[in-house]
Amino acid sequence: MPDRVAVIGAGPAGLMAAETLALAGYPVDVYDAMPSVARKFLLAGKGGMNITHSEPLPAFIGRYGPRAQQLDPVIRDFDPDALRAWVDGLGVGTFVGTSGRVFPTDMKAAPLLRAWLQRLREAGVRFHMRHRWVGWDEDGALRFVTGGPVAAGRAAAQLSSAASAPASSGLADDSASVQAAATVLALGGASWPRLGSDGAWVPLLSALGTTVAPLKPANCGFDIGWTPFFSDKFAGAPLRAITAQVTDPQGVTHARTGECIVTATGIEGGLIYALSAALRDAIATAGSATLTIDLAPGLSFERVLEEIQWPRGSRSMANHLRSRVRIEGVKAGLLREVLDANGFSDPQRLARTIKALPLTLLAPRPIAEAISTAGGVTFESMDRRGMLKARPGVFCAGEMLDWEAPTGGYLLTACLASGRAVGKGVAAWLDSQAGRSDGGT
Ligand SMILES: Cc1cc2nc3c(=O)[nH]c(=O)nc-3n(C[C@H](O)[C@H](O)[C@H](O)COP(=O)(O)OP(=O)(O)OC[C@H]3O[C@@H](n4cnc5c(N)ncnc54)[C@H](O)[C@@H]3O)c2cc1C
Repeated sequence: MPDRVAVIGAGPAGLMAAETLALAGYPVDVYDAMPSVARKFLLAGKGGMNITHSEPLPAFIGRYGPRAQQLDPVIRDFDPDALRAWVDGLGVGTFVGTSGRVFPTDMKAAPLLRAWLQRLREAGVRFHMRHRWVGWDEDGALRFVTGGPVAAGRAAAQLSSAASAPASSGLADDSASVQAAATVLALGGASWPRLGSDGAWVPLLSALGTTVAPLKPANCGFDIGWTPFFSDKFAGAPLRAITAQVTDPQGVTHARTGECIVTATGIEGGLIYALSAALRDAIATAGSATLTIDLAPGLSFERVLEEIQWPRGSRSMANHLRSRVRIEGVKAGLLREVLDANGFSDPQRLARTIKALPLTLLAPRPIAEAISTAGGVTFESMDRRGMLKARPGVFCAGEMLDWEAPTGGYLLTACLASGRAVGKGVAAWLDSQAGRSDGGT
């Protein structure tokens, strides 16, 4: 039996699995299709990386919605405090922002990653970049296509046929075949595929009989279909200090206050990402979703009406709205977008629309643009150690599992915690295997 563990996918989940195993004394090889490790993690660090969140643990775990129960033991075993201590152990401090989000001191991922890679190398972890995993051969060895763009094209062709055709035993020069004692797959979701995770693993695991919930965009923008006038004038404009709400297909209403951005085709940004699961599911069920926006959350309907009915003399309605209820720019543009001229001059309708402006969302933006991915390998397909029931010795971790969460540090926390849990799971499984063979001698 080979003694080395293969970790495929050098994102945060795979690197954490590698660390857990290497520090426990197991020899580890990390493989990744890209020329360098953790590209998405580094990108996350560019915009100010939230590594975790400081809210109380029960609320934190509740952010994983329908998968909170499955992730509860995983997160409790590597909770936000433990995660911060781990970051600290890499020589990088953390701080809690005003939103409760936790950031590395300089808000970047690169210093943390540098220290982490050094720790991994010192623990004996070997890295193999430009190794795209394309399945198993008939001896159960992992098959990789190595090298640059030509090989990557060939890998894509192999991936599309791998689910239906048995692997060929003849390996070309740019292929590698690896027997591993155990394998961790930490291949990510399907968002931002140019950073490495493209979801091409789905047919490989489905062919084993593993259930993979369809990959869907999470923390994503939506298309609305603005009039050309509105789109030309306001694409890129921030909508600040608004409250938005949506009712999901189960009849639960979700409301958030914050800000978002008008895009050429619709809407995106933090406030929308926070509601994106409910919006996406409502569109999937009904064909469209209504997002109801309160443009003046600090004022009651009665107060807005009173202000609008204040005598405006010779002032235009636009100036009147600006001075009485601070509605101008893109907010005024939105009112024009949904109200006809009669509605705009009817104080009752205008006030009602300021407090509950209905936007019809037609479709989520493509998964390639999303911050993260919903769907993936179902928890029911794995045992409690994270091992695939359909393929003993193969474990899964990170965003490729069937859970989703809002932005705010919950994504990285679950990826790191599940990488750690799977690392422990591999060690326990290898020990039990060794115990069985020892017992037989
Ligand atoms: C713009 C942006 C900002 C973000 N900001 C934050 C944030 O502030 N906080 C937060 O919590 N989360 C954030 N996230 C999300 C977070 O980065 C991801 O959830 C996390 O990186 C997922 O980790 P992972 O290890 O599961 O997968 P990934 O990080 O996606 O890593 C998977 C790895 O597997 C490799 N791979 C895939 N297929 C193969 C194959 N067939 N063979 C070999 N290798 C393969 C890929 O090349 C990749 O390196 C952000 C994401 C984006 C896009």
